[in-house]
Amino acid sequence: MTVEMRGGAVSDSAYEKKRDFEATPEPRPGKKNARDGAPIFVIQEHDASSRHWDLRLQIDGALVSWAVPKGPSTDPSDKRLAVRTEDHPLEYADFEGVIPEGEYGGGTVIVWDRGEYRNLRADKDDGRDGDGTDMKEALHEGQLEVWLDGEKIRGGYALVHAKLGGDERAWLLVKMKDDEADARRNPTSTEPRSVLSGRTVEQVAEAEREKEAG
Ligand code: MN
Repeated sequence: MTVEMRGGAVSDSAYEKKRDFEATPEPRPGKKNARDGAPIFVIQEHDASSRHWDLRLQIDGALVSWAVPKGPSTDPSDKRLAVRTEDHPLEYADFEGVIPEGEYGGGTVIVWDRGEYRNLRADKDDGRDGDGTDMKEALHEGQLEVWLDGEKIRGGYALVHAKLGGDERAWLLVKMKDDEADARRNPTSTEPRSVLSGRTVEQVAEAEREKEAG
């Protein structure tokens, strides 16, 4: 997937081509640039034609994205399918709301988790044997190892370009073995609330219905 970059924002991109910004409340790509300091990640729960969790990692000026049908696991023995989707603009990290039915991705979105992340492949601290590979190279190689510092999701995660069944979009998301691994947690079902608004997907959808009903 080629994404044209202008001033750090995603322009004339797959993201824009898929959307009618007169119809969807999702953000237009803006002027938001890669910030100084640690890059961010966001996990958005998306109750669309089928419910999934969208994992997005800030790599340079964009949010590189995967749709995870079962959501992230905290159990290292789970391998979760992660389907690569189009890069999203940095503005998307704050988006919560209802995409109208019939529009691309129609359904309700909440910011299920977010925080900063570290590239473990670049890292030589904490006793980890990083090899100095930056995120762009790691993405190209199809082997990402990141430390997520979210409110719900923490610790090392690997994203591997597995190309299951020959599908170029198919990656696997796997919790790495570390102190944050926990086979008993199941945060996608026990911690359903937005870290931004405290609302569930159902509450956001209900609020939108009430607003439309006037
Ligand atoms: Mn989605």
